[in-house]
Amino acid sequence: MSQGHHGLEEFHWLIEVMQTVDVGVLVLDLEYRVTAWNGFIENNSGIDSSDAMGKSLFDVFPDLSVEWFKHKGDTVVQLRNRAFTTWEQRPFVFKFRNNRPITGVTEYMYQNCTFIPVIGTTGSVQNLAVIVYDVTDIAASKLELKAANERLAQLSRTDGLTKLFNRGYWETLFETEFMRQQRHVRDMCLIMFDIDHFKKVNDTYGHQAGDDVIRAVAEAVRSNSRATDVAGRYGGEEFAILLLDSDLDNTYALAERLRASIANTVVKTEAGDLQVTVSLGVAPWSASFAHHGQWIEAADQALYHSKQAGRNQTSVAST
Ligand code: GH3
Ligand code: MG
Ligand code: MG
Repeated sequence: MSQGHHGLEEFHWLIEVMQTVDVGVLVLDLEYRVTAWNGFIENNSGIDSSDAMGKSLFDVFPDLSVEWFKHKGDTVVQLRNRAFTTWEQRPFVFKFRNNRPITGVTEYMYQNCTFIPVIGTTGSVQNLAVIVYDVTDIAASKLELKAANERLAQLSRTDGLTKLFNRGYWETLFETEFMRQQRHVRDMCLIMFDIDHFKKVNDTYGHQAGDDVIRAVAEAVRSNSRATDVAGRYGGEEFAILLLDSDLDNTYALAERLRASIANTVVKTEAGDLQVTVSLGVAPWSASFAHHGQWIEAADQALYHSKQAGRNQTSVAST
C-alpha cells in the first residue's frame, strides 16, 4: 500500500468494498479476538462491529465450537496455509438464520468458509481472516435433489397403496434369494395369500372401501412379520411373503397367526365396518425347483387348495 494521502483513499474504498460485499469477512488476532468484521457479519449476526471489537470470538458467538475452530485456526497460522470448510462437512460455522425465504427448507444458513493467514509487515502471521460464503441456495437444491432421488428409488420399489414391495421389486428379490440357494443352505419358505370373496367387498361397499381393506391386510402383514421377511403385493389382493431362515413349522405358524389376525381385524371404512378372511398357501423351498417360478406355482397351488376347501385357511404345498 502506498503512503500518505493516496494510501488513505485506497484504505477508504477498501473498507467500502469490504462493508458491502456479499460474503462475510472476519479478522481475528492470534488470541481469537475480533479485529474487524464487515457488514455481512453485522447483518447476519445482528451484532454491531463496534460491540464485538476486541472481544473473544467465542464470547461473541457462544454457539461456536471452540475446540474445532481453534484447531482449524492454529493450523492455518502455523502452516501459513489457507484452509477450507464446506457445508457438506459442517453445515455452518456461524449460526446465522437462513434469510432466504424461498429456500425455506433450512433454518440456518449453509456456509463454506475459507481461513486465511494474514501476514504482517514483519513477515510473520499476525491475523487470521475468515471468509464466510452463504451457500444456502446451492445446499438446499442439492439436498432437495438427493431427497427426491431417494423418494424416486423408494417409489419404484414400493406399492403406493400398501407400502409393501411392489410385484416387480419383490420378484427380483425373490429370484435373487432363489439363485443364492443353489443347494440347501438354509430353510426358506414362501407364503402366498389372497383375500376371500373380494369382488363382493368391492361390489357391495365400493372400490374405496376395498382399498381400505387391502391397506389393513398389508398392515397385518407388517405387524406379523419379521424384519428379514420379504413381503410384497403380488397382485390386486394377492400377497407374497418370503421367509428367510424359517422352516415349515415356523412358517405355518406365522401363516396361521396372520390368518387369524386378519379375520379378527375390523376395518373401518366410509361404507361401514368390514371384516374379511384370507386363504393362504405355504411352500418350503425344494431342490426340485429348477426355476423360481416353480416355487411360486407350488405356493399358488396350495392357496388354490385352501380356496377349494372352504377359504379362511392355510394349506401346505405337496412335495
Ligand atoms: P376368491 O375368494 O376366490 O379370491 O374371490 P374373489 O372375489 O376375491 O376373486 P378374485 O381374487 O379373483 O378377485 C379379485 C378382485 O380384486 C377383482 C378386482 O376387482 C379386485 N381388485 C384388484 N385390485 C384391487 C385394488 O387395488 N383395489 C380394489 N378395491 N379392488 C381390487
Ligand atoms: Mg380373492
Ligand atoms: Mg385374487
